[in-house]
Amino acid sequence: MAKNVFISEKEFLDGKKVFSKELQEEISKTLEAIDENTLQKRVAQVTEKIDCTACANCCKKLIPGFNDEDINRISKHLQITRKEFLTQDLKKNSEKTSEMKLAPCLFLKDNKCSIYEIRPDVCRKYPRINKKVNSYDLASNAVICPIVGNVF
Ligand code: SF4
Ligand code: SF4
Repeated sequence: MAKNVFISEKEFLDGKKVFSKELQEEISKTLEAIDENTLQKRVAQVTEKIDCTACANCCKKLIPGFNDEDINRISKHLQITRKEFLTQDLKKNSEKTSEMKLAPCLFLKDNKCSIYEIRPDVCRKYPRINKKVNSYDLASNAVICPIVGNVF
């Protein structure tokens, strides 16, 4: 494993970790050396120490994607039509999915997700850390998310 120094949410948000080719290479080497089980144990240990409500950096910096089911569920919750949700707040990013027009996410209120129970699938899965994720994506997320940043 690359290091054992823990970076708090605050230090992290102050820009303690920066994207570099070296970071990507380090992550690549770690991925080669570690088995999936050990990696997931490390992810669980780090996740336990991080308070997402003190961070919310992913909701501020990344643009969430919405699949068809997300759009149905969330527009129903907002009591607007799918079309209204799609035209007011989202833009198409592929044939099957749309994404929010701008960051930070409009559902972020007081540093918390205001639609947490019905949030998009992609938000439920973030941060996706496993050996199948490529080192570039992990390095990009390692400078946004203190969980990824502390795992690698
Ligand atoms: S929907 Fe919620 S969890 Fe997803 S980016 Fe927006 S505020 Fe964050
Ligand atoms: S998932 Fe990562 S970036 Fe998002 S709030 Fe939690 S620690 Fe912060």
